[in-house]
Amino acid sequence: MIDIKKYNQDNIFSKILKKEIPSKCIFEDEFVYAFEDINPQAPIHILIIPKKSFCSLDDFSSQADELTIFSFMRSISRIAKMVNLKNGYRIISNIGFDGGQEVPHFHIHLIGGKKLGAIVSK
Ligand code: AMP
Repeated sequence: MIDIKKYNQDNIFSKILKKEIPSKCIFEDEFVYAFEDINPQAPIHILIIPKKSFCSLDDFSSQADELTIFSFMRSISRIAKMVNLKNGYRIISNIGFDGGQEVPHFHIHLIGGKKLGAIVSK
């Protein structure tokens, strides 16, 4: 099982950032990379990741510098506008084992393109 509490440069998203494995880029700037989820849960399902290495939102929000956090947060609405999510959307960040996190590089799921159902299934 992957240790999702420790950052490991071998994780899939780190490899995507290094262009070692392909991804469908939606947006990129100095701080952020956004790409299509390989297994979309809605018509639009984009993953937004910081270029710096943080395991999860928990690490990101406690350890990243203010400009990095600001730039990341700003990118969300920018990307949502770019892909025309004008009726709304949902962002999700899974954290740790109980949160269902699979990839230990902080990411936000930006999901939309239809009326979404319940946030959590029992
Ligand atoms: P999480 O469970 O929050 O860690 O989400 C990991 C997400 O990464 C899942 O929605 C996967 O479908 C997605 N994913 C895994 N591998 C890739 C990949 N190579 N390219 C794009 N998305 C991926």
